[in-house]
Amino acid sequence: MNCKVMLGSVFRCLRTSPVAGKRSMSQSSLAGKVAIVTASTDGIGLATAQALGKRGAHVVVSSRRQANVDKAVALLQGQSIQVTGTTCNVGIGADREKLVQMTLDQCGGIDILVSNAAVNPFFGNIMDSTEDVWDKILSVNVKSAFLMTKLVVPHMTKRGGGNVVFVSSVAGYQPMQALGPYSVSKTALLGLTRALAPELAHSNIRVNCVAPGIIKTRFSSALWHNEDIIDEFKKMLSIKRLGEPEEIGGVIAFLCSEEASYITGETITVTGGINCRL
Ligand code: NAP
Repeated sequence: MNCKVMLGSVFRCLRTSPVAGKRSMSQSSLAGKVAIVTASTDGIGLATAQALGKRGAHVVVSSRRQANVDKAVALLQGQSIQVTGTTCNVGIGADREKLVQMTLDQCGGIDILVSNAAVNPFFGNIMDSTEDVWDKILSVNVKSAFLMTKLVVPHMTKRGGGNVVFVSSVAGYQPMQALGPYSVSKTALLGLTRALAPELAHSNIRVNCVAPGIIKTRFSSALWHNEDIIDEFKKMLSIKRLGEPEEIGGVIAFLCSEEASYITGETITVTGGINCRL
């Protein structure tokens, strides 16, 4: 058989094989899963809730403001996604507990946690940052990611396993100018991912991380509203445009699916080709 004939029969087999089709569909499906996504009423969190919901998961969305929660719930319901919403400021312990308890009461369990919330209250030279700035950034961006994980792990274990995904940043690899404390908090998430993964593997829980580049959201608008800054960034990019929130949501949904069953302790950079190394 020559090469052309052989390739032809392989493609014919892929096109007609019901098993091949079913396998890829069932492995990407999240039907029956319950997913908490923090800070999910806008930007990357909302796009992640959409990506998980479209694959069949029941998503629990939250953020600090009720009006934002209501808007996100309505949007997702309009897309036929199973969704529940509540307010939760991840920096407040009682809010984190309320979010988990509400999920258990309304959805019966937890399979997926996407820890997406972050703040950046400081721009400037790192030597000018204060203790208050560090407390706020580390509390919301790092400590709450761990404490949310600690809250959900017993419930994932009861279900026989689960997935945790942290949202870091390209700034975690290369600190961004004027964003020193924020960048350090994002580096900490790379370490948290690697510290948790071996311990939680025993409970069949995978822990991974996504490090986005510059994604077009409200959070990064100070960067992309400034043409000069964007031109500078584009020099670092192989794909000469900013990322869209959906391009992060899809990668997170992949990490939570069976397609990623052998990936844990890993950070996937989604940056349009920025060189990332520690
Ligand atoms: P965004 O579009 O501005 O959305 C932020 C979301 O977080 C909103 O839903 C907001 O709603 C909620 N939120 C803010 N503080 C919160 C808190 N303390 N507790 C709970 N929810 C809170 O932001 P984004 O760009 O998608 O950023 C999401 C994540 O991606 C962050 O971890 C960020 O560091 C990371 N990231 C972003 C980029 C980028 O270029 N955009 C790049 C790398 C990494 P409320 O106001 O109602 O609370």
